[in-house]
Amino acid sequence: SVFFLQSEVIFSQQKTVINNASKISHKVDSVLSLMNLKEKVGQLVLFNGSWDVTGPPSDVGSTEKLNKIKNGEVGAMLNVTSVAGAKELQKAVMENSRLKIPLLFGYDVIHGFKTLFPIPLGESASWDMEIIKKSAAIAAKEATASGINWAFGPMVDISRDARWGRIMEGAGEDPLLGAKVAVARIEGFQGDDLTKSSTLAACAKHFAAYGLAEGGRDYNTVHIDEYELYNTVLPPFKAAADAGVATMMSAFNEVNGIPATGHKELQRDILKNTWNWDGFIVSDWASIAEMMYHGYAKDRKHAAELAIIAGNDMDMEGRAYEIGLEVLVKEEKIDVKLIDDAVKRILGVKFKLGLFDDPYRYCDEAREKKDVYTKEHLEVSRDVARKSIVLLKNENDLLPLSKNTKNIAIIGSLADDKDTPLGSWRGMVTPGSAISLLEGIKAAVDTANVKITYAKGVSVGIGERNFVRELKINRDDLTGIPEAVEVAKNAEVVVLAVGEEAFQSGEARSQVDIELSKPQQALFDAIYKVNKNIVVVLMNGRPLAITDLAENAPAILETWHLGSASGYAIADILFGDYNPSGKLPVSFPRHVGQVPIYYNAKNTGRPSNAEGMVFWSHYTDEKNTALYPFGHGLSYTTFEYSDIKMNTFSFSTGKHINVSVKIKNTGKKQGKEVVQLYIQDLIGSLTRPVKELKDFKIVSLEAGESKEVTFSIDEKTIQFYTANKEWEAESGDFKVYIGGSSKASLTGDFSFKK
Ligand code: BGC
Repeated sequence: SVFFLQSEVIFSQQKTVINNASKISHKVDSVLSLMNLKEKVGQLVLFNGSWDVTGPPSDVGSTEKLNKIKNGEVGAMLNVTSVAGAKELQKAVMENSRLKIPLLFGYDVIHGFKTLFPIPLGESASWDMEIIKKSAAIAAKEATASGINWAFGPMVDISRDARWGRIMEGAGEDPLLGAKVAVARIEGFQGDDLTKSSTLAACAKHFAAYGLAEGGRDYNTVHIDEYELYNTVLPPFKAAADAGVATMMSAFNEVNGIPATGHKELQRDILKNTWNWDGFIVSDWASIAEMMYHGYAKDRKHAAELAIIAGNDMDMEGRAYEIGLEVLVKEEKIDVKLIDDAVKRILGVKFKLGLFDDPYRYCDEAREKKDVYTKEHLEVSRDVARKSIVLLKNENDLLPLSKNTKNIAIIGSLADDKDTPLGSWRGMVTPGSAISLLEGIKAAVDTANVKITYAKGVSVGIGERNFVRELKINRDDLTGIPEAVEVAKNAEVVVLAVGEEAFQSGEARSQVDIELSKPQQALFDAIYKVNKNIVVVLMNGRPLAITDLAENAPAILETWHLGSASGYAIADILFGDYNPSGKLPVSFPRHVGQVPIYYNAKNTGRPSNAEGMVFWSHYTDEKNTALYPFGHGLSYTTFEYSDIKMNTFSFSTGKHINVSVKIKNTGKKQGKEVVQLYIQDLIGSLTRPVKELKDFKIVSLEAGESKEVTFSIDEKTIQFYTANKEWEAESGDFKVYIGGSSKASLTGDFSFKK
């Protein structure tokens, strides 16, 4: 009771003190000084709440876990997704435990909670940080209304491999775009004030290099050199740390022989010591214990030892810290200071969230009902969705379609699918609640004048080698094709929806085949014979090798898995109510055999032609280039780039260069263009990529209008992790490229001297 009184005093003091960093550290220290070892270890334990749910009213599932919660031996929960559940567990802590340290409630808030936004890869195609931030803020508002105060997002893993199912969860292949998107999402989740009950703690994941697993196989081995790690993988994490992300999650994979969760150099040395980041690291699901299967830890206790030394602060469902840490301290195998550091970081986040002031601040039943899936949120979702669509191809201006088109054939199971657009990692959305493409089109036109005919044709077809999905689906059922052909024959235009089902991408959803499924390809071929006016609407969670479609279909829209308002957003684009402006955040390969394929690759020693095609480093049966390159995306208008100007051709430390370019809307419609700046560092202490994205700006232009866009290049712009093992700019010559994709052809030269 002395402790109880002391902690009461601390709590009441906290209420009167303003939340700022130094004060928080005092408060953290005062709480830590009251804690015994068991309680300290308890803060490092994260339990799952609903996986083994035994039924209402508790989300916690097992009495064993509930008792531990009551004893103050648990720091956080995941997958408790209701106010009732969160309240019950928070109460268990507040009414039973000695120190009443509130729980964190974590959940995978990846692209929305009840209102769904485009999958992250799709949303990144907007290149629009304002709307990305807005969608994350709405996701935070909805999740916090359901008792959640910690999002396991954003996923910031750079990936160059379309086979990897989780490519849908990140921002694609580029470290600069990836870093910007990471920051936008973090700012959206955390807002400018974490104590607001509508914001939550974010978690940048998976630290590190999870997106570069061998062969695109999920969870697999990563071999990466130090330079690639720093220049490609770490930038989004560094940006997240600088943006004040509250937490990070370690990765399942090993990095050069050491599981990421037990990787001291990555976690303690780089992230905590060098970057001076003060948040906490949570393991991935059981990834501490999984070090046993990696062949790195001999048992859970050993795994706990390795992970805590390496700097991993919280154990997600691995039951390793719980079993191992107290014993390890008693046996003097680890210093209790390591545990203290982890506890402090976790308590720090709890203080920042204001949980010590009011542990129930996220438990508002009224908000739970009214702040989710609102009309306003759905409107924003529609706006984000249309901004995420990429017009890949548009021959002879087939798009936009006129609303006076007499007869439109809508074909493909995905066109009538109200679930697929919700994608993988879909939060607590109601299944089947998306606006389908068919619904969107019907809402966009006057159906009294426009005849809309739908035919399913075929199912998506899940690929011959897909062992995960139910086998009862007849993948080869082509019997619907003749009906679809009939419908197509009589139509002015065919809108054909093809691609992937929701759960073909996501965790543990790697694929070797990234082409259109055979039934869908057969459907396209059959329709193409009777009607060439085909608008292909792609729905997918990864880049697809759609080389045949790219050659034959006159128009192709990449719509990803767009979320709740999918059909409305696609119809906005199809009929020209919105002019597409999305750009690919990832290269689309011609063939799976090209993977990994990415624009910021290196030259070889063999000379290359103007197209960047390396003569001797090629496949004999396929080109080296992407089918659609990074940054590519068309509009219903056209843009002309000219008059590249530089105010000087050389600069030095402390100075900068302005590069400007004139961009003109040469078409007939208002439109937006993402103007992209790339730089090539010609000679380096290490070989340098053929070009790297360094900046971009979105400009909006009326028909006929011109604007000048200016980029500023300074020493920071050209820095990289050099042979000196430092972030620095090297003196030398550089080339700039400006344009509307990574193929940007307007160039200029400059030099930098230290
Ligand atoms: C995933 C994480 C996720 C966690 C909790 C893991 O399997 O890799 O990204 O946050 O589960 O659901």
